[in-house]
Amino acid sequence: MKIHSEQEMLDFGEHFTPINNVIELVGDVGSGKTTFTRGFAKGLGIKESITSPSFTISKSYACKNGKTLIHYDFYRLQDPGLMSEDLKENLQNQNNIIVIEWSDTVKNLLPKNHTTITIKYNDDGTRKVEIS
Ligand code: ADP
Ligand code: MG
Repeated sequence: MKIHSEQEMLDFGEHFTPINNVIELVGDVGSGKTTFTRGFAKGLGIKESITSPSFTISKSYACKNGKTLIHYDFYRLQDPGLMSEDLKENLQNQNNIIVIEWSDTVKNLLPKNHTTITIKYNDDGTRKVEIS
């Protein structure tokens, strides 16, 4: 799929319905992972603004349907340590919808059937999005 602008990425996120509760976002810095998450949060009825959780590693938001969106960003975290325990625990709770940026160090914890969204830059600034 080709995404032409930031707004289109927000719209894609807003209308994205995952088949399970865990979404892994793969793509370089600035590809649009957090932008996707902003749109996705809007679709879940979250009014708060979504900021990158790079320093806190995770942020939680209450969804309109009573579920909780948990946004993780493991960027540059060599050893996820305690946060991997936190992730493990949150993965057990079916009330959580979990979005993860930079999941390399916690890949082994993710359920086999999670959704992966891969975002790639194109030379013209558009993004190529693949869902698997
Ligand atoms: P990441 O979380 O992957 O590092 P961000 O979502 O934080 O990336 O940043 C993506 C940046 O690229 C934003 O500044 C956004 O405005 C810009 N942008 C430009 N075109 C697009 C597009 N087609 N899709 C997503 N973001 C885009
Ligand atoms: Mg980001």
